[in-house]
Amino acid sequence: MALPSEEILQEVALEVSTCSKCNLCKGRTKAVPGEGNPHARILFIGEGPGFHEDKQGRPFVGPAGQFLDELLSSINLKRSDVFITNVVKCRPPNNRDPLPEEIQACDDYLERQIAAINPTVIVTLGRYSMAKFFGSEKISTIHGRARKVGGRLCIAMYHPAAGLHQASLKDVIRADFKKIPQIIEEAQRTQGQAVPASAVKTRPSDEPPQQLSMF
Ligand code: URA
Ligand code: SF4
Repeated sequence: MALPSEEILQEVALEVSTCSKCNLCKGRTKAVPGEGNPHARILFIGEGPGFHEDKQGRPFVGPAGQFLDELLSSINLKRSDVFITNVVKCRPPNNRDPLPEEIQACDDYLERQIAAINPTVIVTLGRYSMAKFFGSEKISTIHGRARKVGGRLCIAMYHPAAGLHQASLKDVIRADFKKIPQIIEEAQRTQGQAVPASAVKTRPSDEPPQQLSMF
């Protein structure tokens, strides 16, 4: 019998908090394992903790996080409805890009989170999480479109911080977000479980965890 997703996520968070599998452990204040609903239908994957995240141990709590909150509420979702994490769980020094070996070292935690949550859709925020699922494709071409990757539905989106730096992207990101409920509704219809868009928030708690379809 598989462990409940709550327990797997707690276990991952505990391991992350004392992890020293890559050099990013040296500069961190707090590791940021990610947080949210263990049964979320939507999993958001960003890049890595920044200044505020490192201080608080929580994902997306700085300016990019405020924009993410706005985007979530635009589709009637709260943070507690979704799960939010990053490809690396510790802050890179001066917010530099995470290195390939750091992403690789941290990937096992992300894979275990994905398996435990088993979301209907994974939304990648930014280049590094996009690269995990979409390889070297360009964000300007694929943003906002749902695609099956290894049996799982994925959508690549611009990083919310990109919208803060470039005003023209803000509306692109807002428009891409608005597509999420319909994408989930369609995914569930094709899985034979018609669910109205208003019910996309979480799976009922009595629903048994589903088996992971492997990448
Ligand atoms: N940017 C990210 O990619 N992740 C965070 O948690 C915060 C900012
Ligand atoms: Fe461990 Fe990931 Fe932090 Fe590196 S970034 S120390 S692999 S938790």
